[in-house]
Amino acid sequence: MSAQQDGEVASPEVHAIGISFGNSNSSIAYTSSEGKAEVIANEEGDRYIPSVLSYVKGEEYHGTQAKSQLVRNNENTVAYFRDYLGKDFDSLDPRPCHASAHAKKHGSTVAFSIQDTESEAHNAVTVSEITTRHIRRLASSASDFMGKKVNAAVISVPTNFTETQREALTQASKEAGVEVLQMISEPTAAVLAYDARSEAEIKDKIIVVADFGGTRSDVAVVASRGGMYSILSTSHDYETAGAQLDQILIDHFAKEFIKKNKTDPRQNPKSLAKLKLEAEATKKSLSLGGNASLNVESIADGVDFASTVNRTRYEMLAAKVFASFTRIIEDAVRKADLDILDIDEVILSGGTSHTPRISQNLQRFFSSKTRILSPSTLPTAIDPSSLAARGAAIQASLISEFDKEDIEQSTHPMVTVTPHLRNAIGIMVVTDDIKKGLFTALVEKETAVPCKRVGIFAAPREGGDVIVKVCEGARDIKITKKEKLKTNGKAASDDSDLDSDNEEEDEEVREKIWKVGTVLAEAAIKGVKKGGKVEVTVHVGADLGVVVTAREVGAKGGVRGTLDK
Ligand code: ATP
Repeated sequence: MSAQQDGEVASPEVHAIGISFGNSNSSIAYTSSEGKAEVIANEEGDRYIPSVLSYVKGEEYHGTQAKSQLVRNNENTVAYFRDYLGKDFDSLDPRPCHASAHAKKHGSTVAFSIQDTESEAHNAVTVSEITTRHIRRLASSASDFMGKKVNAAVISVPTNFTETQREALTQASKEAGVEVLQMISEPTAAVLAYDARSEAEIKDKIIVVADFGGTRSDVAVVASRGGMYSILSTSHDYETAGAQLDQILIDHFAKEFIKKNKTDPRQNPKSLAKLKLEAEATKKSLSLGGNASLNVESIADGVDFASTVNRTRYEMLAAKVFASFTRIIEDAVRKADLDILDIDEVILSGGTSHTPRISQNLQRFFSSKTRILSPSTLPTAIDPSSLAARGAAIQASLISEFDKEDIEQSTHPMVTVTPHLRNAIGIMVVTDDIKKGLFTALVEKETAVPCKRVGIFAAPREGGDVIVKVCEGARDIKITKKEKLKTNGKAASDDSDLDSDNEEEDEEVREKIWKVGTVLAEAAIKGVKKGGKVEVTVHVGADLGVVVTAREVGAKGGVRGTLDK
């Protein structure tokens, strides 16, 4: 770097963090000197900080303290506002903030009428100003923890966050003294959090990132090819999330209370607010244990309420909602024009993804070859609530040294929307032993070009001539019918939820096979030695031209051919 010129003002040092900013919760993370992303706890010790601000006589409360104000001070408590930023009042769904300060139309934007100063006056505080205050609090917690002033961030946002929403968030953060270096999509952040682990094996795969939050569920199908990610499809659902699971428990406990006390606690806003907070806590406990209790002091007419529920009962009550989570994933896979057998991994992200039943349903839905990355299916899974913030922190550490222009360049659609392969390119090795050859995909479909892949194949045991055919391949699903086993007229199944009638239905076995298409090239390698191996390199250029090199491992020479697109 050149020495500073006379009169030149030094730009302040960039201290960047990762922020995940959700409607329900936010998190802040940093990357340690060892390159590990860590979530930062705020002054209250919370790593998942409710995106809530509350005001009492001019004093501002944030996070968990603000959320507890939803019982007594709901009118001056602002919650669930992220999705209102950069939106028109007429286009927004007001339901999430039904029990907190209501969103109101304010010129061309949205505001909350709250008493946020010592005076009795109600002020219209715009959603942009609320966001600034929230980001300021997050940055201040991060600064306290890191011992230096945080002034920049990478923020994770949903895949359908519009340009206007991005601009509004950039502006609101700037007002809080935080420069947004980049916005990263939530599914990309989650994949990055997994791929950045030292033990991660970076290989070509198709990943479903299912982000199940408090007020919305977002699913993305991501192709990971040579460490580059492309989003193939997305699905969004605003009716299936943690709030619907809370509601099931609220209704369950309310019915029990009515039976004993002949009064419905849901009719009184304060009682409902108390019940809602406690029901959410009970729901979280049910992710860990088989039983959970609920305790609400003075729920209605001064009566305390205590009860318990077990996981089996909860899972029965919520079965329909749980099934909907699987359906959102199915929808995204279909939109990507893929089969569930194409999915290598499912990353469960977001708070609701802690729910064991959701992952167990997915384990049944996908084939046994699909890895479900969630706390209840994989002991080494990363905490789903922290994935977006961790990914954002990793990205922040990668780019905080870059120039602004370079960051803008790298995220420009011209750069990120590179051409992708429509079909896989694979190899068939033909020898005297295997006349037909078996197709092995070397470059998967949806790989962004240019790219290069190398494969090593065993030659015949006794050595000899090897013909390498480079072919296009299309994935196909082969369905075979298998006669179902019968046990006393009942289908053999351990799935007690799905009542099977006594009909004898054949079982379908579905498997992924390759349909070999056009042969792009053929290379002959003569006289490969006994037990030898053949190495094939396929290089696809940006213009889709293909260069193939084949050689015997350890031997001199080889065959090289170029194919135009
Ligand atoms: P959104 O933007 O959809 O509102 P978010 O990204 O802000 O969500 P998250 O923290 O991902 O928020 O998800 C919050 C939801 O996760 C809440 O409904 C919360 O009750 C739920 N949740 C958090 N922890 C658990 C747990 N251990 N078990 C079950 N649900 C949980």
